[in-house]
Amino acid sequence: MPQTVSTGELTGLLVRVFLRHGVSAENAGPVAETVVAAERDGAVSHGLLRLPGYVLTLKSGWVDGRAVPVVTDAAPGLVATEAANGFAQPALRAGAPLLREKARRQGIAPVAIRNSHHFAAVWPDIEPFAVEGFIALAMVNGRQRMVVWGGKRKLLGTSPMAFACPRPGRLPLVWDQASSVMAQGEVLLAAQHGKMLPEGVGLDADGRPTTDPRAVLDGGSILPFGGHKGSSIAFMIEILAGALTGGPFGFEDRSHEYPGAQTPKAGQTVILIDPLHVPGNRYFERIESLFGAIKASGVERLPADRRYAVRKQSLRNGIPLSDRDWETLQKLLA
Ligand code: NDP
Repeated sequence: MPQTVSTGELTGLLVRVFLRHGVSAENAGPVAETVVAAERDGAVSHGLLRLPGYVLTLKSGWVDGRAVPVVTDAAPGLVATEAANGFAQPALRAGAPLLREKARRQGIAPVAIRNSHHFAAVWPDIEPFAVEGFIALAMVNGRQRMVVWGGKRKLLGTSPMAFACPRPGRLPLVWDQASSVMAQGEVLLAAQHGKMLPEGVGLDADGRPTTDPRAVLDGGSILPFGGHKGSSIAFMIEILAGALTGGPFGFEDRSHEYPGAQTPKAGQTVILIDPLHVPGNRYFERIESLFGAIKASGVERLPADRRYAVRKQSLRNGIPLSDRDWETLQKLLA
């Protein structure tokens, strides 16, 4: 039983799992790679932990593993992709060449993806664009778990937003965060371990503040980060990833009609900017002045620093797999 695997070996295993459970050869690679990227970088909440959820969702019929995304050159400054009820990563990949070409030519271009299932971290979607020299911003909406500030019941997803920008001679700066004060998985873990939540994390089914994770999960809701400010960011994401793309809103979720389904059927908007189009902005020089000043102010850790450090270890020594992960893989391959 191996204790560590290389990224290539893990990708190969996951591709086999996805093929075994009804995902097409075209789609299996991009989905497997996003799971491996999370595991490689120590973002374990979105790595192998999610694999049984992918498989259960495929079995439920809620997602179509064989979906063929349709990319449309919607306007000079806009790519639109119909994910056809498939996974988000193949849909993004299908539109990426046109998106890149438009952003290079015009300086900026968004892609609006609809009817996609995003069950992963968002940074793997955009870090590669920043490596290519683009500033990238991505937003994904999801099924209802979070209250809008001032409301009494859940309405929106814990919708994540991620940002990446290129740096000269270094890996990009990348951040990726949910719009809720706490991820739903952490509330679930607290409930499983009989722990109470900190104040300010959730509301019960009647819209009253609670520290009981079971009350949050049982008809209650999670609060947005930063009160009304995070709430505004969350409904901006709902507009840009839901309304703009033509995809479903968080409160229109129908996954409960498909027993076992876990992935949110959502929309996704990714915006690329080529920083070299702005005359005289000296982007690469200026950005290092900014990070120099941040460091000089006493900040030791930037977003993604932790992930990059774990990545370095994984690429050097392999990705450590727990016995449980290994057993899960074998079970799903059987
Ligand atoms: P975290 O709060 O753990 O981290 C958010 C960001 O802040 C990361 O980029 C992290 O960098 C950075 N960070 C953390 N601590 C520090 C620090 N002390 N100083 C500077 N930067 C720091 O993320 P969330 O719990 O909000 O979200 C976790 C993941 O869940 C995300 O990847 C998100 O995309 C995903 N998600 C996906 C959803 C979906 O529907 N697909 C729904 C909701 C969430 P680093 O990576 O280096 O730790």
